[in-house]
Amino acid sequence: MAQAYDDQNIFAMILRGEIPCFKVFEDDETLCFMDINPRTDGHCLVIPKTPCRNMLDATPAQLAACMKTVKKVANAAKTAFKADGITLSQFNEAAGGQEVFHLHFHIHPRHDDVSFKPAGVQGDMDAIKGHAEMIAAAIE
Ligand code: AMP
Repeated sequence: MAQAYDDQNIFAMILRGEIPCFKVFEDDETLCFMDINPRTDGHCLVIPKTPCRNMLDATPAQLAACMKTVKKVANAAKTAFKADGITLSQFNEAAGGQEVFHLHFHIHPRHDDVSFKPAGVQGDMDAIKGHAEMIAAAIE
């Protein structure tokens, strides 16, 4: 049986404005903001504004809205960071590697021969803020 959505998750708090984020982009249906523990420079997250735990309970409309924003932001991030490629990742339930139970897609600008940084290490907040501005400025 599918697990219930918990509206006390940290991304729901960000959507309600209860905790801050470094916003990159938003439209009526989605929000993109920076991951505070970046695995690459420019690591950001795209979430739907409406509740769902992950891809498994998301509606086709929620997924379509997220993908539209993912493509827009991924191209901007590739431009902003002069990246060689983009890694997109998304985890479903704890066994699938998910830690925050509001659907999100990770966007990672990638450079040839540069590995991910370690997980769970908080980034420099001034640098992350600057990266958000770089990506936002490159959105078409
Ligand atoms: P996962 O659910 O495994 O995809 O991981 C959740 C992601 O959310 C991790 O990459 C965290 O670094 C990130 N994260 C957790 N709290 C915040 C926050 N307050 N603002 C931005 N990113 C966060």
